[in-house]
Amino acid sequence: MCAKWDDSIEGRRLHPESLMMSYGYNPAWSEGSLKSPIFQTSTFVFETAEEGKAFFEVAYGLREANEGEGIGLIYSRLNNPDLEILEDRLSLWDGAEMAAAFKSGMAAISTTLWAYLRPGDVLLYSRPIYGGTDHLANYVLPEFDITPIAFDCRDTVESIEARLSSEAPGKRLGLILIETPANPTNDLIDIAMGAEIASRHSSDDHRVPVAVDNTFLGPVFQRPLDHGADIVLYSATKFIGGHSDLIAGAALGSEKMMAPVRAMRTFLGTMVGPWTGWLLLRSLETLHLRMNRQAENATRIAAFLREHPKVINLRYLGHLDADHPQFDLYKRQCLGSGSMISFEVPGGEAGAFRFLNALKMVHLAVSLGGTESLAEHPASMTHADVGREEKDRLGVTEGLVRVSIGVEHPDDLILDLGQALNAV
Ligand SMILES: *Cc1c(COP(=O)(O)O)cnc(C)c1O
Repeated sequence: MCAKWDDSIEGRRLHPESLMMSYGYNPAWSEGSLKSPIFQTSTFVFETAEEGKAFFEVAYGLREANEGEGIGLIYSRLNNPDLEILEDRLSLWDGAEMAAAFKSGMAAISTTLWAYLRPGDVLLYSRPIYGGTDHLANYVLPEFDITPIAFDCRDTVESIEARLSSEAPGKRLGLILIETPANPTNDLIDIAMGAEIASRHSSDDHRVPVAVDNTFLGPVFQRPLDHGADIVLYSATKFIGGHSDLIAGAALGSEKMMAPVRAMRTFLGTMVGPWTGWLLLRSLETLHLRMNRQAENATRIAAFLREHPKVINLRYLGHLDADHPQFDLYKRQCLGSGSMISFEVPGGEAGAFRFLNALKMVHLAVSLGGTESLAEHPASMTHADVGREEKDRLGVTEGLVRVSIGVEHPDDLILDLGQALNAV
């Protein structure tokens, strides 16, 4: 199936948003159907026994593929047309050679960690990080003799090197995992700095991969592979899915870096199913539209919130001033400011709850990146199991609320947020 697709006209390469409707699928495969059908099948029929043998030889790496020979369709845990089309299209956004779609964001993250970490290794990761990832790093991986070491946006190469040698002397650095911007604070982590640390710890027979969870800005507003990342990870549940109606994930990178991840996916069975894969194809057609509209809305709403007397400590990437310590990094690493906003209201938890309970159009729910706006209270919800001290260090206060801006009319969002702030 991996034929070459027309991705240019008169030698000029088309943009991803133009290719999302057709790339990787040929209507002739399916009675001329404009849209790819859902290939709801567990297994695929071989034309001959020889063909089946050849497919397995390539899929299991028993021999190199011949010129023009792709991986044949065998069994839906290994591959499926809906997944292959999805992976081809996802790759375009990040400029990746290869993608793998997963059952969830956590499936993408955990399968990647399983592919690269070995007992005795150190996992270096940025903090704050998604709660599920934090739990995996601090409670699950240590049972397999993997040492988690965290750093944050204030750390430097030197301070991280010092921590590695004092907390895990003599141990091998297995993988660096970065999430940027961080949730819910919008702190940025320097991907190029991660790549520098990785190169210091890499040798000819051991390359330390840098994996970046790009869920919050990507793929439209941040391209980690351009800044030295080896693997890009997504919760496709969020912006990529974009309609709050599915759970999925993805990992992308070069063929070389992705090969162990794809192999681990085959044996853990963490791939996404054809129905969800098909829904994601639908979602990708409007990804650029949605993310841009959400970001435009966020700009309007942040301008309103900045002037509101009940809004304290507004955190929005579009408002970083030139004298902010993260301004240069923002300009270098991000292509836009996205649509995640957090801010504090007076009155601690009680004040935050009054605001959340008063919202009429914006729903009170965790998750983010969907067409509808959602608001939540990090201290008691998404970050409930982060210790008090750590919360204070990260700025997750009792009065903090996080809003994911959707595609509604911005005037209506401002109306709703304004009346809910008046209730505080
Ligand atoms: C939601 C989320 C995840 C986990 O993804 P699931 O699809 O829920 O498994 C990982 N990282 C980030 C940044 C997320 O927001």
